[in-house]
Amino acid sequence: MKHYDLILAGGGMAGLSLAYYLNQGPLQGKKILIIDREPKTKNDRTWAFWQRGTGPFEAIVYQAWDTVWFHGPREYGPPGNAFSQKLDLGGYRYKLLRGIDFYEFVRVDLAKNPDIEFLYSPILGVESDDDQAVVTTEAGTFSAEWVFDSTFRLEAMKPFNGDFTSNRQTIKPSNHQTLLQHFKGWVVKTSAPAFNPAEPTMMDFRIAQHGECRFMYVLPFSESEALIEFTLFTPALLPPEAYDAELKTYLRDFLKVTEFQILEQEFGIIPMSDEPTTERPRPRVVRIGTAGGSTRPSTGYTFARTQRRMQTLADNLARHGQPFAPGMARQPIPARYRLFDEIFLNVFLKKRYPPAAVFTQLYRRNRPADVFRFLDEENTLAEDLRVIWAAPKVPFTRAAFDVLLRKILR
Ligand SMILES: Cc1cc2nc3c(=O)[nH]c(=O)nc-3n(C[C@H](O)[C@H](O)[C@H](O)COP(=O)(O)OP(=O)(O)OC[C@H]3O[C@@H](n4cnc5c(N)ncnc54)[C@H](O)[C@@H]3O)c2cc1C
Repeated sequence: MKHYDLILAGGGMAGLSLAYYLNQGPLQGKKILIIDREPKTKNDRTWAFWQRGTGPFEAIVYQAWDTVWFHGPREYGPPGNAFSQKLDLGGYRYKLLRGIDFYEFVRVDLAKNPDIEFLYSPILGVESDDDQAVVTTEAGTFSAEWVFDSTFRLEAMKPFNGDFTSNRQTIKPSNHQTLLQHFKGWVVKTSAPAFNPAEPTMMDFRIAQHGECRFMYVLPFSESEALIEFTLFTPALLPPEAYDAELKTYLRDFLKVTEFQILEQEFGIIPMSDEPTTERPRPRVVRIGTAGGSTRPSTGYTFARTQRRMQTLADNLARHGQPFAPGMARQPIPARYRLFDEIFLNVFLKKRYPPAAVFTQLYRRNRPADVFRFLDEENTLAEDLRVIWAAPKVPFTRAAFDVLLRKILR
């Protein structure tokens, strides 16, 4: 059995980010194996995130904006009171990174280091005792001091294989609160100018809600090219053709575009769940990325939090010879924010208040920078309470009681 210092089981966003940070520091010289079932050669996803200043992947940020549009729903609120506003991000920039650019950037960086190897093979199991971890693949078994695993999936997500063949597929029933964030995106090229490249739309709730949470976002790259994404927070997928129909209608009715070419497509499912995952399931195994609990249940945002966590793990390995250090946060998302998100999920799942109206109140009554800090878990408790105060009080109070009762009964 070949032995490595570190094995990264899964070479997607979290695995490659960790490899990149390890490759920048004094850990060069460690033998590292990155295992994935396939090389990352497709533009399979686009990451949007907000940031103050610059980050390690600034050179490959595809677009960045200082303001974003938010459009509230037409169906709720007093007549004539629809909320549509260009939000000033107050020092933040909303950024877009294409998956393929990220994979290529990291691949070129890692290629300089002969101590980093790649293996493309399905992973069958990850085990560990107190001294080392073992990864079993179809191509053989490998051991390491530490394994960083991004292949673990929540129970609720087991019915989904991530492809687009499912028809009205739904989550596995459990005692936990789970919604799917599922979305289909088209990168379109129009025959005539149709977009303002300086003005993306972060959330557009003006589309028919069907009693669910549905919105569009539009990230323009030029006057004639943009990513348009149709997103839902529901327990089940739609039939595949329904996403396309909705995108086409939005292009026609809201963007006044009927002639266009689809350059690229993406489809994704992100778990929005309070099902717990543990970052350290076995003595020498560390789960990372979505598998390690870096996906915020109320929004699905994962990218920026994973970057922060991977930097911390890499720093700890360099300084202390192990990924965990005294004083570091015990989970990527602190307990207080996981509780807030359980309450959000409860409001949405129990249909206590229209989700579109919840988001509208949050962005209407708060400064976007305060909401971003809330979503980045950077606020004080008082600041958090101020952000939440904008949400409708009765449904959120009921949801809070329900969540607390569930905790007591559990
Ligand atoms: C289409 C899409 C768009 C997204 N957009 C955003 C966004 O805008 N902002 C944001 O913050 N988050 C976004 N997310 C959520 C999140 O950032 C991504 O899912 C991110 O890729 C998660 O990183 P990860 O490393 O946990 O998982 P992945 O990047 O999926 O990496 C896991 C890797 O493990 C491999 N793997 C899994 N099982 C096995 C196995 N048994 N054997 C071998 N290899 C295996 C996979 O091939 C994959 O490469 C998006 C997700 C998707 C799907």
